Amino acid sequence: MAMAAAVVVVGGGLCGGLVALELAALGLEVVLVEGTEPAATELSYGLMPLPAALPWLRLQLRHGPLGLRCRWLRLHSAAEPAASVPWLDRLPLPAAQVEAPLFLAALPAALAAAGVRVLPAQVRGPLQPGPGGWRLALEPAPAAGGGARGSAADPGLEAAQVVLAAGGGCRQLWPALAPGLQTSWAGVLELAEAPPRGLCWPAELTVPRRFQRPALERQTLAPGPLAWVVDAGLVPSADRWLAGQISLVGAEAAVGAQAPDTPQPDPAAMEERLRQGLSGLSPALAGAPARYRQVPVTFSPTATPLVGPVGGAPGLWVLSGFSAAFSQVPQQALRLAQAIAAAAADSVQ
Ligand SMILES: Cc1cc2nc3c(=O)[nH]c(=O)nc-3n(C[C@H](O)[C@H](O)[C@H](O)COP(=O)(O)OP(=O)(O)OC[C@H]3O[C@@H](n4cnc5c(N)ncnc54)[C@H](O)[C@@H]3O)c2cc1C
Repeated sequence: MAMAAAVVVVGGGLCGGLVALELAALGLEVVLVEGTEPAATELSYGLMPLPAALPWLRLQLRHGPLGLRCRWLRLHSAAEPAASVPWLDRLPLPAAQVEAPLFLAALPAALAAAGVRVLPAQVRGPLQPGPGGWRLALEPAPAAGGGARGSAADPGLEAAQVVLAAGGGCRQLWPALAPGLQTSWAGVLELAEAPPRGLCWPAELTVPRRFQRPALERQTLAPGPLAWVVDAGLVPSADRWLAGQISLVGAEAAVGAQAPDTPQPDPAAMEERLRQGLSGLSPALAGAPARYRQVPVTFSPTATPLVGPVGGAPGLWVLSGFSAAFSQVPQQALRLAQAIAAAAADSVQ
């Protein structure tokens, strides 16, 4: 017999984790299904302007430390030297950061304390309506050493309300989310050792004064061929240093008006492009020993994230496609949880 819950959240990254906590705080019975796809949250810099840290302070007061800290950052102009203002390039500016590995390490205990049940499984798409709402077919997540975690038989999962917070997996679960929700691939180098201090000095980290990624995302309003940019930067996060970031969108063969998902690119080609792009910031960084990693990242070509009910699918909700996720998700997860709680209350009256 299928297991039942009032609300199922699909995805255990930034979006899924925070909306599950908010739903549980509103008294709803929540199951979070976390799959095996790579999570953008895991590789994220987690940076945001200082005022955006206020909702994170609220979350930390309720759930304990979630990786929030204050940083000094330097904005460099390596990609556009003509626009460089030397004193500005050396001015340390305050910023907030949620160190992603610390956030993801703290999340399971926070979810358990809030009463959220976590199921390690992959939800098969596309979703199907079921009795009383939705019926989710599950594939058990593989265990660390191979084999399946938990029982082999899939009892399925039924829920009146389902939240799509599966990042790059959202479109596979509900294909009609395209073209408003697109997926890019983002890659970084995880450095084998700490970089020379001078690269960020007098700050702790450095990122471009102007990121090229937003313009790349807007290009996908029309289907197009593969295109990439490197926004060279160097960011510490927990016990690691990330040098990035390369962003790639488009498809080799874009057909029709609906942009297809960006296919997973060849990691070796992506690493080479990223290292080339980093050489403008520092030749030493471009050649540094490191492990290259890439993940899918969802975005909205109009820079308007998808938050709310999914049209034509009662009981289905989405939280995805943020361009400034760490700034925006805490507030948007709270609003979405309130809307779902109101819909759940209406349905029992
Ligand atoms: C290098 C890099 C740097 C970044 N820097 C910043 C930054 O400084 N500031 C900022 O605000 N944003 C930044 N971002 C973007 C930000 O990290 C993402 O927008 C955000 O983490 C997305 O969170 P998410 O929960 O939507 O998706 P994800 O973190 O991708 O989580 C989705 C989860 O869903 C699960 N899943 C997928 N399909 C299924 C399925 N079928 N069944 C069950 N589970 C499933 C996956 O396993 C995954 O855990 C950065 C991203 C990258 C890659």
